[in-house]
Amino acid sequence: MKLCPICHRCYEDTDNVCVHEDHASLVPSRPGSRLINERYRLDRLLGRGGVGAVYAGTHIELDRPVAIKLLLSDFITDQQAVRRFRREARATARINHPNVAEVYDYGTNRLHLQTDNLNLPQRQNLLQQIRDANRQIHSEMSQKEE
Ligand SMILES: [Zn+2]
Repeated sequence: MKLCPICHRCYEDTDNVCVHEDHASLVPSRPGSRLINERYRLDRLLGRGGVGAVYAGTHIELDRPVAIKLLLSDFITDQQAVRRFRREARATARINHPNVAEVYDYGTNRLHLQTDNLNLPQRQNLLQQIRDANRQIHSEMSQKEE
């Protein structure tokens, strides 16, 4: 998958130039297609953390906006990172909070967040909400580890 370095839209490896206003040269981003599990299409990179990246995407069968969190490819073989990611998905799935998107699918290196219940201004602020959610999840996880 390739990424536009300016608008952060996602492209397939066969694409070379961003078709949006910036017409920037695309840069390689992750191995594989932007289509995940033949169901989720990565549309735009929203943000990158220490071990994961969050994308705005689409559930292509249902034509529904989703947020998808992926482990960075450097960490896919890191068992500790994979375990932490799984715990995060499970912890997120248990939380019922208006600012926490619902987890409705999970793979070993993927976390899919449902954003249906968010209105447009909330959706534009999705990254901040995911940061807040991650903070809450990690504080719950560290309390459990104590
Ligand atoms: Zn672009």
